[in-house]
Formats: sequence, structure tokens, C-alpha cells
Amino acid sequence: MEQLSNSSFKFFSLGGSNEVGRSCHILQFKGKTIMLDAGVHPAYEGLSSLPFYDEFDLSTIDVLLISHFHVDHAASLPYVMQKTNFQGRVFMTHPTKAIYRWLLRDFVRVTSIGASSSGKDENLYSDEDLAESFDRIETVDFHSTVEVNGIKFTAFHAGHVLGAAMYQLEIAGIRILFTGDYSREVDRHLNSAEVPPLPSDVLIVESTFGTATHEPRASRERKLTQLIHNTVIKGGRVLLPVFALGRAQEIMLILDEYWSNHSDDLGGGQVPIYYASNLARKCMNVFQTYVNMMNDDIRRKFRDSQTNPFIFKNISYLKNLEEFQDFGPSVMLASPGMLQSGLSRDILEKWCPEGKNLVLITGYSIEGTMAKFLMLEPESIPSINNPESTIPRRCQVDEISFAAHVDFQENLEFIEQISANNIILVHGESNPMGRLKSALLSNFGSLKGTENEVRVFNPRNCVEVILEFKGIKIAKAVGNIVDEIQREEIIAANNNKDGSRVEKKEDDVEIKAEQSTNKDMTNTVNNAIDLKPVKKNEIKEENRELQNGNEEEIIVSGILVSDEKNFDLNFVSLTDLREHHTELSTTVLRERQKVHVDCKKELIYWHLCQMFGDVGVLLDEDNVTNMVKQENGNRNHTESEDQNGKLVLQVMNDIKLTVVDSTAALEWSQGLITDAVADSIVAILMSVDSAPASVKMSSHSCGGHHCHHPEHTPDEVLQRNSVWKVKQISNLFKEQFGDSFTLLLEKGDDHDMKDEDIYGVITIGKNSARINFSQMKIEECNSNPLKGRVVRILDMGADLAASLC
Ligand SMILES: [Zn+2]
Ligand SMILES: [Zn+2]
Repeated sequence: MEQLSNSSFKFFSLGGSNEVGRSCHILQFKGKTIMLDAGVHPAYEGLSSLPFYDEFDLSTIDVLLISHFHVDHAASLPYVMQKTNFQGRVFMTHPTKAIYRWLLRDFVRVTSIGASSSGKDENLYSDEDLAESFDRIETVDFHSTVEVNGIKFTAFHAGHVLGAAMYQLEIAGIRILFTGDYSREVDRHLNSAEVPPLPSDVLIVESTFGTATHEPRASRERKLTQLIHNTVIKGGRVLLPVFALGRAQEIMLILDEYWSNHSDDLGGGQVPIYYASNLARKCMNVFQTYVNMMNDDIRRKFRDSQTNPFIFKNISYLKNLEEFQDFGPSVMLASPGMLQSGLSRDILEKWCPEGKNLVLITGYSIEGTMAKFLMLEPESIPSINNPESTIPRRCQVDEISFAAHVDFQENLEFIEQISANNIILVHGESNPMGRLKSALLSNFGSLKGTENEVRVFNPRNCVEVILEFKGIKIAKAVGNIVDEIQREEIIAANNNKDGSRVEKKEDDVEIKAEQSTNKDMTNTVNNAIDLKPVKKNEIKEENRELQNGNEEEIIVSGILVSDEKNFDLNFVSLTDLREHHTELSTTVLRERQKVHVDCKKELIYWHLCQMFGDVGVLLDEDNVTNMVKQENGNRNHTESEDQNGKLVLQVMNDIKLTVVDSTAALEWSQGLITDAVADSIVAILMSVDSAPASVKMSSHSCGGHHCHHPEHTPDEVLQRNSVWKVKQISNLFKEQFGDSFTLLLEKGDDHDMKDEDIYGVITIGKNSARINFSQMKIEECNSNPLKGRVVRILDMGADLAASLC
């Protein structure tokens, strides 16, 4: 594979490009790799139904996002997770995961029947594979941003089926929107797809219907119900092959209402409607669970009647065909939608020889499937249970689309709102996709040759699209600098009533920044901070220029902090640097502090050893430290009366304490941890003379005059040490979260009453986290970003604790 330059973005499809089925796309940018969807092609069986997984090293994938539960988007996921070297993390929305479980179980069952009847053993995976991989799938909430290893992504409603998501990804400031399958129509149960609030640089969009135009919804509903009505009234049977979930519920909402309103014309309940699916009942509950993700209509129905709107008055469920009594006219919704095998295929073979029957296709028919073949009105169809014979086809075949995919006009309007300069078409057969490409290019023709030129790609599977992104850096302003920018904006807006176009969220501002160095600023900063190149982080001083629509500039000074691993480029004021960038602790600011001490040097050394364990001795002119070391085993040392020499100690690698005469000088590099440790050393130095342990030490060195003073037991020392550690770690949290953080001392439920656990609680708006400091772990947290922050601080705290043990 071609070597990518640092600014190259690569798109690559393993399936679902110039075809509908086996959707699977790869994105690569700045060393990150993302996979979008892992489907199968419903027209093929076994391994040949998979995306071209051999064409890519799946072990390099960081994140795999599943857009929705349809088999052409999700059904090879267990294969990827269990049968390949894929090691990444997998995400889908909650309803998708809830339905995916049942659907794929059914998929395993149906395909294994199909495979055994064709004499092949080509099952892609087993029930066990499905179960094992299921637990490793993570869920995302709509509208909340998840970050994995520098890749940020947010799910938005796609309006296609329950739980269907669009994902907007952000890597190193470049935003990519993947629509998955999407619909802009408000139907009977779902809202239309959302337009994400932030713009995108690359749009990966479905092109299923190409340049076709949907008939208005109302006339499609009318046609559907009339066609069915006319067929059953003449004694015919109607087969509606449907995908088990999603559109099936939509069709049932239409039919149930029609049957209720036309009961008399239809013989007062004499014409039954059946929904034949193994999953029907199980999934009713899932649909009810997620009513809150559906549109107002359905929610109102649910609220008013307090009954599940997906339990229908006029529709009965059939688990299999054994319980089906086929005596007269009826309407049968049956899965699978493509008629490849299973219940719908069995009914098709039974009903298709009779001319008064009707097969009504309401979904999108994938190339190469029986559903697509039927539309050609063939003389006969092959029998699946008896491959030697064919079955004559005399039944009517019709198509009225309720497939929840955009038509041309809807797609174009959405594409214009996203206003991405790069559009990659997927999920469409070559011809409609090609027509869509031409239509888009002519629509955006006036932008050709300008910097806003729109490029449209319709690559084949395994053909790369490479895009170059150069020179744009997006920095996020955080902390106090946001106020400063807003103040400047108001001034600018007052000067110029058109205002400025700087995008603003509640507490952070997005700015497009150009690199330019201001010498004065550099000097000022260098006075305060000794900048050193550090491993992961880099500090640059920049003078930011915010451009508004009228070429007016707002000038704000601050520091750009870039994190090369996560691509975060934050713009902060100097005073906020520590608060927002604790990882910059390697930045060296030497601090010094002098303290007057009025006690013997061995006492200082002894106390520090008690607190920090391993204290290094850099210089000990009076040999006091050896005396302390031998003190327990051998008390017959000779005390040096004359202590004028220098003692230089080292605590935690980086803190140097020099004691000479009655002055202790402390020197350390600035950092959250080292600052905290230095503080505590100062506290020890100041209190050393009054601490009871000092007396103990003194008692040994002065011949046992004070031997009745209480001594600290090892347990007490240990406890004091661990309390001290918790205090230091909680200080880290205080620094990060301020008043949002509180420390609690509680008796644990199942602990011995002597054991008290120390908890920290962080509450920021609706988000909260509860941390058990005694066990150094997070116990509850309802927000992933917050959790990430807490875990980072705990890690840092664990390092601190480890270095003190
Ligand atoms: Zn779909
Ligand atoms: Zn699809």
C-alpha cells in the first residue's frame, strides 16, 4: 500500500462501493485507522458474502463504528471480531446493539439452514462467536462525543431505522461525516436525519436512489393500501417480504390503521394480517424501550394509551408456518426482505403460481437477490427446497418503496447543508451512483476552480481516494482566554455591527489559526518558563488572529499547546496552562524555597524517611544519615556534637533539600506532583521539632531521658502515609475540578467497621463521578469524557503513590 504523507487522508472501501451490500469502509489519517460498518452481501453466501477483508491488515484498525443493524452493515461484525486479527474497539448505539443481538442469532440460524440445504458448510461464525463478541461491543449515546486514541466521534440520528446513526469523526482537526443509510422523511415512527451542528471536510454519503425522486409519502401510502385492499377483496393473498425489523414496523403502522378504519369493507376482520418473524415478539419490547428515540407522534400515542404502539390490533404474529392456516385471503409480512431463504421464501414458493396473489416489494431490492429477480416478472423461479425443480410464477409483482433512503432532492439538500468540499459516494449501484455524481458536479459547477470547489468521488471497492489537507490548524480555546476572546468580539461587534463569525459553543470557542510567531510574546514567556522539548507535548507561543467575516481581526495572546498523540491543539492563556495541561509537568520551572530549621539534621532525615521511604543522600558531611540507618539495630553510636557540615538529600528524583546550619533550602521542578511533595516537605521541616516522633528520635540520641513519650507503631506510620497519599491525590483532583470536587469519608458496606473508605465525588452539571481513593478506582461515572479525565488523574496519582512507597 502506498506510503501516505502526513497530510494525506485516505479512503478505501472493502465493500459497499459501487454496490449495495457488504458495506465496509476504511479511513486513514495521521496514523489513525477507522473502519465504518462490517456488512455482508445478501446476494452471496458464506465467505463470498464478506467484504474484501484480505485486502487490508485489520490489525491496524483503531476503531470500528457500526451505523445500524441491517445485515448489509453489521452482519460480518462477529466474523471480524472472532476470525481475524482485528484488535480495535467496536461501537454502536444502544438500540442497534439491543436489536443486533436477536437479528444476528436469526442470521446464524437462517444461513446455517441455507448452507446445509446447499450441501456447503460455509457458516461465517457460530452462536458462540456471536455471544463472545457481543460483550466486547461498546455503546455510544447520540450526541455525545467519544474519544479513542485521538479519534473523536459523535453519533447523530440517521432516520433510517431505530438506532441508525450517522457518525461525525474528527481527527487532527479534520471532520468526516459518514451518513450510513439515512432518510430525511418524517415517517410514522422516526424523525428525519439530523444535520450535525459543526461543518465537515469530507462527506461519505449513501447514493442508493441516485437521481431518482420519491413519490410523496401520502400517495405511496394510498397506493399501498389500495393495492392490498383490491387483491384481498378478490380473494387473493398478499406477500410483503420485509426486513424483520425497522421498515416492517413502519408498514404495520400503516396497515393496522387502515384495517381499523376500513373494517366493514374488509369483511369485519375476515382478512387477517400476519407478521411472520422469529423475532417479532422479542423485538416489540426493544421497540417499546426506545420509544423516546422516535418521533412525537409515536411518543404521544404511547403516552396517551400507555400501551406499546407496536402491538397491533389487527396483526397477529407467526413464529413459523406450522401454525399458519392458509384458508383464504390474507396479508403476510415475512422476513427476510430479499426472499433469499427462510419464511418469506417459503411463502413465495407456495403463493407465486396463483395469478390472483400479489407480491409487494416495499424495501430496496439488492442486485442479485430473489427480490430483484422477481421484479423482472420471470416465467418461473428456482425452488430453494428442491433445487432440481422450478416453480411457475403467475402472481402479480409490484413495488412501492418505503425504503428509508433519501431521494435525489433530499440528498442534495442535505449535502448542501453539510457543505463539505469532498464528497465520497457509497452504497449505490454503479449506474445510479454515476448519475448522482454527474448531477452533483453540475450542481456545484459554479465553484469549480475556486477554493470552495466541490470534488465528488465514486471509487470502486479497494480503490483508494487520497485527499490532501494542508495548512489548516484548528485550535480550541479553553479556560480564561475564552472570556478574553468574547470581550474582544463584543468590542469588535460594537465597532462593526455585522459582528463576527467566530463559532462559539458554551464554554469553548473554535478558532482557525494561522501560524505566526510574535517575538515579544516569545520573550515574555521565556522569562517565566524554561521551554524544553519534551516527548509528547510541544509548546508553541503564538499570536492568534481570529478572522471574522469582514476581515476584521481580533488579536488575543496566549499559548498553543499541541498534543501530538491526540492531535489536540489547545489555545490557553498563560495563567491557565497548568490547569488545562497537567501533562506538561515536564516543562521545567525550577522553584526554590528556604526554611529556617531548628533541629538536628538526623531528625530531618529520619522524618523524611518515615514519610517518603527512600530518600537519597547526595552529600552528608557529618555522617548523620548513617547514624539514623543504624539507629534501630545499634544504639551505641557516638553522637556528633558539632554539626556544621552540609547535608544534601534527594526526594522523589527531582526534589533537592540542602541543610546547612539552621537553613534548609528546597529546590524542585515545577509540577503538580512535585509541588505537592515540596509543600509537604516544607510542612515537615516546620513541624519537625514538635512532632512526637522527634522526641522519640531525640530520646535515643540523648540517652533515654524522654523514654516515656508515646511512640508511633508501624501501623500508625503506614496509615499516616496512606492518608497522606490520598490527600495528595485528592489535591490533584481539587486543582483539576475546583469546587466540583468533594472528599468523603465513609464506612464501606461490606467492610469491617474499622475500615473506612475515602471517596471523592465530582459533580459537573448532569455529569458525576465517584472515586474510591482507598482502592484508587472509579466506581461510578455517567460521562465518558469525565471518566477519561478521572482515569488519567488516578494514573498520575498512582505514579505518585508508587514513588512514595
Ligand atoms: Zn439499512
Ligand atoms: Zn444499507
